[in-house]
Amino acid sequence: MDKNWMTIRNRLASREYKLGVESFLQFAMANLGPQPEIRCPCNECLNGRKHSSAVVKIHLIRRGIDSSYKTWVHHGESVPAPQAYDDDHRDPNEGIGDETGGEVPKDGNQLQNMLEQVFVGGLLDDIVLLVNLY
Ligand SMILES: [Zn+2]
Repeated sequence: MDKNWMTIRNRLASREYKLGVESFLQFAMANLGPQPEIRCPCNECLNGRKHSSAVVKIHLIRRGIDSSYKTWVHHGESVPAPQAYDDDHRDPNEGIGDETGGEVPKDGNQLQNMLEQVFVGGLLDDIVLLVNLY
């Protein structure tokens, strides 16, 4: 759904804005079904009031549409699933995370092995010392 018309400032002179209002009303009618009144997303009603589509149209042209009303949830549009959006962005990170995750334990193991060698070596030295003392 093209909503660029919502940000047009010179809306009274803009054919694109009026077409956008029409497309919005058609969208609302198609998704909400036959309704005597729909919520008005104009800058004064802000979806808090309901009017007939004719009045909504006038409001939207005279007052302008609330440009923050990007997803028309009150007019039948479903909210984009945040999970799907996150997944798109998480997948590459997970790949990187897996690579790093594979490297970190390797380094950790190497360090641990070194520490164990030092520890065992030290312990053996102690044992050798003890053995030598007796
Ligand atoms: Zn209104």
